Amino acid sequence: MSTSAKDKPENLDGKHNFQAEVTRLLDIVARSLYSEKEIFLRELVSNASDACDKLRYEALTNPSLVEGDSELKIIISYDSKKKTLSISDNGIGMSNQELIDNLGTIARSGTAAFVENIEQVDDVNSNLIGQFGVGFYSAFMVADNVLVTSRRAGSESGGIWESDGKGSFTITETEKADKRGTKVELHLSKTEKEFLDDSRIINIIKTYSDHISIPIILRKEDSTEEQINTASALWTRPSNEISEDNYKEFYNHIGRMYDQPWMTIHNRVEGKIEYTNLLFIPSSQPFDLFQPDRKTNIKLYVRRVFITDDCEDLIPAWLRFVRGLVDSEDLPLNISREMLQHNPVLTKIKAGLVKRIIRELKKKIKKDPEGYLSFWDNFGAVLKEGLYESEEYRKDLLEISKFPSTDKSNMITLAEYVSDMAEGQKDIFYFSGSNIESVSSSPQLEAFRKKKINVLLMVDPVDEFWLPTINEYDGKKFRSVSRGDIEIDNIGSPHETKKDNTAKDNEDLSSLTALLKITLVDAVKDVRESNRLTDSAVCLVADEEDMDMHLERLLRQHKQVETASKRILEINPSHPMILDLAKIVSKRGNAASEELEDVAWLLLDQALIIEGESPPDPSAFAQRMSNIIGKGLNE
Ligand code: ADP
Ligand code: MG
Repeated sequence: MSTSAKDKPENLDGKHNFQAEVTRLLDIVARSLYSEKEIFLRELVSNASDACDKLRYEALTNPSLVEGDSELKIIISYDSKKKTLSISDNGIGMSNQELIDNLGTIARSGTAAFVENIEQVDDVNSNLIGQFGVGFYSAFMVADNVLVTSRRAGSESGGIWESDGKGSFTITETEKADKRGTKVELHLSKTEKEFLDDSRIINIIKTYSDHISIPIILRKEDSTEEQINTASALWTRPSNEISEDNYKEFYNHIGRMYDQPWMTIHNRVEGKIEYTNLLFIPSSQPFDLFQPDRKTNIKLYVRRVFITDDCEDLIPAWLRFVRGLVDSEDLPLNISREMLQHNPVLTKIKAGLVKRIIRELKKKIKKDPEGYLSFWDNFGAVLKEGLYESEEYRKDLLEISKFPSTDKSNMITLAEYVSDMAEGQKDIFYFSGSNIESVSSSPQLEAFRKKKINVLLMVDPVDEFWLPTINEYDGKKFRSVSRGDIEIDNIGSPHETKKDNTAKDNEDLSSLTALLKITLVDAVKDVRESNRLTDSAVCLVADEEDMDMHLERLLRQHKQVETASKRILEINPSHPMILDLAKIVSKRGNAASEELEDVAWLLLDQALIIEGESPPDPSAFAQRMSNIIGKGLNE
C-alpha cells in the first residue's frame, strides 16, 4: 500500500483538550472517595475484551487483519520498581483520530447529558462511580499518569495518548506501536501500590472479569505467565453451573449496569431457528432510560462471535431496559448491517424474546406481586409504550400493567379493578393528571369517592397515548371521569347528595345556568349541572368528543397543539354558594346579569385554577376579585 503525500492522514500530534464533560467526569473521579477503586481493572479489561470482539468480527470479512497473530488475548503485566501496571490486548486498536475521539470525549449522548446535569461535583455521592461505571476514565482513580499506545488493525503506524487526567492529553505518532492492538500503561499513584501484586490482581479478575471470553493472562515479574479467567462464553454453559455472582458480573460487563439484575432469563431455543438468550432486567432505572433515541441494549452474537450492539430489529424499544445478548446459530457469520434489516431470522428471534419476557413477567406478577412492584416502578412507564406500539402484545401487556387508584392503597391490575367493580358499574373509570397528589384531590372525583366507585389514576405521560387507542379491557370501556357527561347515579351505594332537598331550587338553577352560558359564551362550550361534584362549587370537564384535558395540556406544553379547546363548566347543584346565586338570579331575572358578570368569570377562573392552569387574564382576574371583596366589605 503506498500512501501519497496528499492522502496521508492529518498530523494530530500535540496537545488536545478534553471535552468539557470529560473534564467534569475526571474531576468527579479524582474527588470521589470511592472505596472500590479496583473496578478500574474491570473497566480496562472490559474495553480490551470489546476490542477483541470487534476485531474478530472485522476479520470475518478481512482475514488479513489477524494474519500471523490470530489468538486474541489480554495480558496484564506490572513493574513494581517503576510502579506501572499495564493492560494489553491484540484487538482492533485505535487510530490517532480514534484515540482523540474515544479517549477525549464521551460518545454516548446519555452519558454526556448525565454528567452535565451533575451540578455540584462536591455533592456527588461516591457511589455514583459504582452505579454508573466511568469506563476508561476510572484509570485516573489509581494513576497519576496514563499512557495508551495503540495501533489500528490494518494500519502501519500507531500513536501514544498520554495524560495526567487534568484537562488535556497529548498525542504522539510512534514507531513503538509495533503490534496491532492497545496497551494501557498506568503510572500508579503513591497510595495505590497494592495493585502491583499477583494475588491481588488474580483476585480482582476472578471477582469481576472471570466471564470474559478472551483469555486474560497475568505476566508475573519473573516472566512466567498464567491464565487467570475461565475464558469460555458464559452463556454457552448450562445455567445450573452458573452462580448468581457469575451472572451479576456478566450483567455488569455486558449491560454496563452496576446494580443486581432484578431478573435473569437464560435459555436456549431449539427448533426451526436456534439461539441462546441471556437477558437481564435491571433492578434500578438506567440514567438514560428516557433519552429520545430510545436505544435498545441487546448484543447480537452469531455462533459465539460478537456481531453488533446496535441492532434495532432484535427487541422493541418498549423493552429497551432489558440488557443482555442473543447468540444465533442460523445467521451467517459474515452478516452485514444491511442484511440485518428486516431479516426474517431476526424477526423470529425478536418475537421469541418478547414472548419469553412477557411470560416471565406474568409468572412473576402471580408468584411475587410485591417484588413485581419494584419492577413496575422502574419500567412500567416504558412497558406501557408497547400498548400503543405493538398491537400484537396489547392484551398481554394490559394483563401485567399496574395502576394506582382512588380506592386502594396498592397498585392494582385491570383484572383486580374489574373484579372489584361497584354494583351496576359497566365501565372502567380513570382520571388522568400529572401526579397522584394533584389528581387525588380533584373535584371531578368527589362523587366517585362518596359512592365508593374506584377510579384508576393515570399519571404517566405515556397513558395519554395508549388510552385513546385502546377502548376496552375485558369488554369494559375505558371512560375518563373528566370527559363527557357521566351518569353514576345508578352505580354503587346510594348517592348522598343534597339533591333531593334542593329539588325545589332546580328551576332556579336553570336560570343561573342560562345566565352563565350567556356571559361566558366565548370562553366555554357549555354550562351544566354536575353529577361529579359533591363539595366543590365548580369544575371543568372536556366534551365527550374532545381531547382529555390532561392530554391537551401535555401537548400544549410540547407545542403540539396551539390553542386550548373550550371546556364545559359544571356547577354543583347542592353547593350553598351556587344555590345563593340561583336565588339572586330568579329574584331579579335579567337585571342580575350585569351584577353577576364578575361572579361568572370568577367561577370559571376558579375552575381553571383547580385544574392547575392560570386564569387567561390575571389582571382582569385580580380586578374582579377586588370588586367582589370590596362589595363584600361594604355590605
Ligand atoms: P465504553 O467502553 O462504555 O464505550 P470507555 O470509556 O470504557 O467507554 O471507552 C471509550 C472508548 O474507547 C470505547 O468505546 C472504545 O471505542 C475505546 N477504547 C477503550 N479501550 C480500548 C481498547 N483497549 N481498544 C480499542 N478501543 C478502546
Ligand atoms: Mg468500557
